[in-house]
Amino acid sequence: MRGTKKDYYEILGVPRNATKEQIDAAFAKLAMKWHPDRVPPEKKEEAERKFKEISEAYSVLSDPEKRRLYDMGMDPEGGVPGGGAAYDFMHMDLEEILRNVFGEGFGFGDFGFGDFFENVFGRRRRGRERRERPEDLDIHLEVELSVPEMVMGTTRRVRYRRKVRCHRCGGEGILNPRTCQVCGGTGRVRQHRRSFFGVMVVERPCPNCGGTGISGETCPVCGGSGYEVEEVEREVTIPAGVLPGQKVIYRNAGHVGRGGTGRLVLHVKERPDPRYERKGRDVVLTVDLSPARAVLGGEVEITDPRGERVKVKVPQGVQYGEVFARLKGRGIPDPKGGKGGDLLVKARIKVPTKLSKEQRKLYERLLEMEEQP
Ligand SMILES: [Zn+2]
Ligand SMILES: [Zn+2]
Repeated sequence: MRGTKKDYYEILGVPRNATKEQIDAAFAKLAMKWHPDRVPPEKKEEAERKFKEISEAYSVLSDPEKRRLYDMGMDPEGGVPGGGAAYDFMHMDLEEILRNVFGEGFGFGDFGFGDFFENVFGRRRRGRERRERPEDLDIHLEVELSVPEMVMGTTRRVRYRRKVRCHRCGGEGILNPRTCQVCGGTGRVRQHRRSFFGVMVVERPCPNCGGTGISGETCPVCGGSGYEVEEVEREVTIPAGVLPGQKVIYRNAGHVGRGGTGRLVLHVKERPDPRYERKGRDVVLTVDLSPARAVLGGEVEITDPRGERVKVKVPQGVQYGEVFARLKGRGIPDPKGGKGGDLLVKARIKVPTKLSKEQRKLYERLLEMEEQP
């Protein structure tokens, strides 16, 4: 049984000296939170209990006479059978309650109706959510490629998270949709706002249904956003000829949003490799030559970026760091069919550190000859 032992101020979360406006606002906020129509089924019982409690507190504190009696420690509704007006709130929908509390326009001074809902729900309702710019739906990943991968193309497994339509509500954000009772399905509400210049009537999208005219239970999977996050693991192909700084784009593989589906954008970077340097589409391969080979020249066998063995002529007296051969078309191809890059072969003289007896003798002999005047 209800009694004056309950602290109505505490129930509404307002101070003892709260103004009527503060009490109205506190009640509206709690009513929206606990209205049995607004909660998922498993919370219904708790909501009904809470809702009764806040309705009772409000029916007393919102009435100046009842509030005065309550403050004096008396039962302000003594003798009213069935607990009085408080319980009537139970059978009203939220919009009726709010109209009861605030009149036709739900003015909170400068604290607008929409702001109020936004504040209560802590997020933007669907429909009022702005359309993303297409680029906001794109997902960007970096892919490092070695020179052979640029020459031949490659595939990679990539993993990323993307936003997709909620599987439970199909992106609607609500379950059991029905015509919105706040706006009667029109998606618009009118609001009176007090301002310095008098009362203004403004029309704005209905905050209950987000302007869609349809409302329902908030989807428990996505919390009303209509979206959830999906882990994606997929194979991507980077075709031959893509250079660092270029992008490979997969359409419709990005986030799903109101503005459509974004792209998966792969940003190609270079993986450093001591064997290769790259100049545009040309590839420079460094090969080690012995001092004798550098002096005498001849022929060496190299492995090109495709893994093919190729014989290359070495000129006599090749210098350290000299590019001594150009193999046409063995660099990075042009995916547009233009002239592809070449493979340039650069000499590095590798000085032996371990010598056989005989090699040592020969080097000593060479040195003697070099030092003869
Ligand atoms: Zn509505
Ligand atoms: Zn959902």
